[in-house]
Amino acid sequence: MEFQSPPLLDPDIAAVAPPRFHLLSKPSGSTCNIDCTYCFFLSKEALYPDATHRMSEATLDAYIRQLLESHRTPDVTVAWQGGEPTLMGVEFFRKAVALVGKYRRPGQQIQQTFQTNGIALDDEWCAFLKANDILVGLSVDGPKEMHDTYRVTRGGKGTFDLVVEGWQCLRKHGVEVNVLCTVNAANQRQGRRVYQFFRDELGATWLQFIPIVERATAQTIHIANQGWSERPREKRLLYTQTGTLVTERSVGGGQYGQFMVDIFEEWVRHDVGRVYVQLFDVTLDAYLGRHTLCIHAPTCGYGPALEYNGDLYACDHFVEPGFMIGNIHETHMQELVASPQQRKFGLDKRDTLTRQCQRCDVRFLCNGGCPKERFVQSREEEPGHNYLCEGLYRFFAHTRPAMEQMGRLYCAGSAPAEVMQWTAAQDRQRGAYAPCPCGSGRKFRFCHGARAIGAA
Ligand code: SF4
Ligand code: SF4
Repeated sequence: MEFQSPPLLDPDIAAVAPPRFHLLSKPSGSTCNIDCTYCFFLSKEALYPDATHRMSEATLDAYIRQLLESHRTPDVTVAWQGGEPTLMGVEFFRKAVALVGKYRRPGQQIQQTFQTNGIALDDEWCAFLKANDILVGLSVDGPKEMHDTYRVTRGGKGTFDLVVEGWQCLRKHGVEVNVLCTVNAANQRQGRRVYQFFRDELGATWLQFIPIVERATAQTIHIANQGWSERPREKRLLYTQTGTLVTERSVGGGQYGQFMVDIFEEWVRHDVGRVYVQLFDVTLDAYLGRHTLCIHAPTCGYGPALEYNGDLYACDHFVEPGFMIGNIHETHMQELVASPQQRKFGLDKRDTLTRQCQRCDVRFLCNGGCPKERFVQSREEEPGHNYLCEGLYRFFAHTRPAMEQMGRLYCAGSAPAEVMQWTAAQDRQRGAYAPCPCGSGRKFRFCHGARAIGAA
């Protein structure tokens, strides 16, 4: 069916409204059924102290209707997040699916996504997710000892076994799953092990890695290190993007890059075209001139977050008072995402780059990273530089030859997976006893060459 772009609700915003955006909705607000120590979102309950934190049917209706009305591209993503969205119960999402059907225009392609900790997933949930072709993002931080370090229940117990049950249930029902893994102090030195666990033990083929960077000030660092409250289960301090210190749980700036390099060196030898790692995909896209992830795009501002009551914020990471752009019961969502405040938020990403970023030879791939992580000084002591810079540079510079080779293959109409033969040829030339290219300091044969062609 041919897609017909709708007329804009207000012609005055035609020049500035983004044709599409990726809104993250939080139907249960910040409420969750577990208590991850590093979670920045649990504390957002402080924004709505006396509320039930449950999206009403009126807000659900307004959200779906306005989202579908606002898009002028055929593809629309309806993204559910938390807190923990399963707390809303399956019935809520049956209504959501019905509303998508009601408001969808001819030719519109709707992709529904659902980010969950997996604890509550059972046959009813998984059958529903499969029947409605909903892509699930499942949070797992690696093997049990790593996952259980920070992803714990309110009683402090690790949640790994429950998550694996959820994963198995999703697999049994044939639900498409993207594993979302944070990179933190507990797993940052184990990139390859974490990756091999997902690939070989879970059998996952879609992976996303997100650095944990919890900012704090000299006043808050003590309580932040304890998990943002004096005692477990007590109310948390409202997390805001302030401070130049980081918690003990945060990944090291350089270590994040090393973690991703460690994974890349395994992937580029064995798994290209078979396992999908978000950062690798978006980096290759950037070589081809496309920016598909806000974090490494020149500008952002098209990933707003919707709270359970219709309040819309600039971004999921900026759900805090200074970044609320309005409420969808008062102003149409399209107008809010096109507002001068939101456009400035997105353009600031480009306009506040430090001189070090402006001159950087991987800027076209990195674009200074996410503004939430720009709180250290650059080499020239300019404030507002990215805390992860050392790691970002390491990753983008290290992967450049293989990425360029994949880009050449793609442009020539060949499969980028042929980069694995190119890598194998380089490995043979280097020899099994040369230092491993990952930078570990170990001999290739005893590091990434353990399974590589010609290395044994
Ligand atoms: S602030 Fe960061 S996460 Fe938010 S939209 Fe911008 S780049 Fe993306
Ligand atoms: S690698 Fe560092 S200097 Fe280069 S663009 Fe990224 S944050 Fe800026």
